Amino acid sequence: MRCHRLAVGLGFCLLVGTALCALWVCVENWLPVSYIPYYLPCPEIFNMKLQYKGEKPFQPVAQSQYPQPKLLEQRRTELLTLTPWLAPIVSEGTFNPELLRHIYQPLNLTIGLTAFAVGKYTRFVKHFLESAERFFMHGYRVCYYIFTDDPTAIPRVPLAPGRLLSIIPIQRHSRWEEISTRRMETISQHIAERAHREVDYLFCVNVDMVFRNPWGPETLGDLVAAIHPRYYAVPRQQFPYERRHVSTAFVTDGEGDFYYGGAVFGGRVARVYEFTRGCHMAILADKANGIMATWQEESHLNRRFISHKPSKVLSPEYLWDDRKPQPAILKLIRFSTLDKDTNRLKS
Ligand code: UDP
Ligand code: MN
Repeated sequence: MRCHRLAVGLGFCLLVGTALCALWVCVENWLPVSYIPYYLPCPEIFNMKLQYKGEKPFQPVAQSQYPQPKLLEQRRTELLTLTPWLAPIVSEGTFNPELLRHIYQPLNLTIGLTAFAVGKYTRFVKHFLESAERFFMHGYRVCYYIFTDDPTAIPRVPLAPGRLLSIIPIQRHSRWEEISTRRMETISQHIAERAHREVDYLFCVNVDMVFRNPWGPETLGDLVAAIHPRYYAVPRQQFPYERRHVSTAFVTDGEGDFYYGGAVFGGRVARVYEFTRGCHMAILADKANGIMATWQEESHLNRRFISHKPSKVLSPEYLWDDRKPQPAILKLIRFSTLDKDTNRLKS
């Protein structure tokens, strides 16, 4: 009789314990997590949290003085292939495309590509998408996300099977500076709301550009930055970083690795979310103090890449500017800014 009671008691305890555990897991998943270090006039962004497990705050690298890595360092005829923090610097000849195809194709990845086409910039979409269909992640599933104030102006470009175009309406801001400082906010919100479910990797690029040569899985990495075509051979003191102490994008003379372009960045979707959210918060803090960084988002992107190092760096092959002649050191140009009258478009 006592044995029977004991068994019933134990069984009951086990049942209650399991029920409590299940309840705790539910509550933990349901609880909203919010980090509000100080007040900024935009609470919804801080309360938005990507629903995935294992998110850890990054360990920013300790501030220290070290020599600038130079892309043209070794021999003037060869590019550096590894950063001092051991991230590969991708350029033609550093990888085997055939081997990468065998590794990445079975993974069935979906790659997202965001671009903004606001106002007159809708005219670039056709050429941009057509060139991406030819060269961007050929043979992979791709989601294009075009953010625009005028969905009717976006042409329907024929897409290969497995490739989708989403046109996402956004508000138009009158000043072009405002358009480009809103991108970090828009991308982070878009990832939290939607893209984190749809893509594995996400690249964010300028729309007034074209793909000219293959851009493949060699570019995939946790957090990816591209070296700016104008500053790859320039000492860090001359990088156009934000130099005013009052800005959150401030960089001292002794800091900086490469000057990265704001026109190309990407990585695993969760890392891009954290990256864009971090930049957006820094931009908000500046705004609260009435400051616009020297090169708007690019300044904040560069500031953040100093403390949150990219795990992969793309050589200027992946971010070129047609207004510059192609130097012998770059074997090919994969993605390039069109030669156009920028000032006329911005006005
Ligand atoms: N942009 C836009 N409409 C504008 C200004 C900018 O859609 O009126 C977007 C567009 O995607 C563009 C990007 O913001 O490629 C960066 O702006 P811009 O090309 O003027 O800057 P850049 O980095 O080339 O100096
Ligand atoms: Mn441009």
